Amino acid sequence: MQEALDQIIATLGHKAVLTAPRDMEKYLDDLQGVTVTQPMAILRPANTDQVAAAVKWCRANNLSIVPQGGLTGLTGAAVPTAPSPSAIIALERMNAIREVDLDNNSMTVDAGVVLSKVQSSAKQAGRYFPLHHGGQDSSQIGGNLATNAGGNNALRYGTARDQVLGLEVVLPDGTIWNGLRKLRKNTAGYDLKHLFIGSEGTLGLITGAVLKLGAYP
Ligand SMILES: Cc1cc2nc3c(=O)[nH]c(=O)nc-3n(C[C@H](O)[C@H](O)[C@H](O)COP(=O)(O)OP(=O)(O)OC[C@H]3O[C@@H](n4cnc5c(N)ncnc54)[C@H](O)[C@@H]3O)c2cc1C
Repeated sequence: MQEALDQIIATLGHKAVLTAPRDMEKYLDDLQGVTVTQPMAILRPANTDQVAAAVKWCRANNLSIVPQGGLTGLTGAAVPTAPSPSAIIALERMNAIREVDLDNNSMTVDAGVVLSKVQSSAKQAGRYFPLHHGGQDSSQIGGNLATNAGGNNALRYGTARDQVLGLEVVLPDGTIWNGLRKLRKNTAGYDLKHLFIGSEGTLGLITGAVLKLGAYP
């Protein structure tokens, strides 16, 4: 396995691969208190290409993949619990606001951006992002979309699903699906992004999203 680990360290860099139990500890601390199986490594890619490389590496080495956001879910789903060898792919280093488009009232973000940063970046731009819940200072937008979070404003504005124009996803074979559409009046065919929203990482790793912004209430 050391050879495989050397390979992924060469691809992602030292900072992105954690294997020492002490370094991995905080990534295994699920709020639910489930019994965690020690993963082979925590992979912390810094961009979408690196996520794709991490997924391909896991596949090549027969490792189950556990996507991890802010670890605020209360179901034990963001930590490994099965006996099979695994790796966590944590999105925390993908935390850039890629673009704020005021004409389109939209914002394109990395999946690892913490929800409260999405809200404050929208506010700074004079816009409003309505998703709001008690875990917003730690949970990431990717995790919010993966769980289709509802939150305190759901009756008025809808759930996380309703705040999205486009998505970027790394599929289980490492292919990058670029669905980062900004168009509101999109009437074309299947709306594949909705397959991934609410699928809790079972169909792919969300790496980016185009979010709708609105007027500040
Ligand atoms: C105090 C508190 C209050 C809350 N209140 C509400 C509420 O009012 N309404 C509500 O609906 N929810 C609520 N929640 C739950 C919250 O919505 C979820 O915990 C949050 O959306 C999960 O985001 P996360 O980044 O922490 O994901 P994690 O907990 O890390 O992961 C959750 C799931 O998503 C998967 N995942 C994470 N990131 C990705 C990704 N980028 N791509 C693919 N899969 C991924 C993980 O594998 C896991 O299955 C609350 C949570 C807390 C702690």
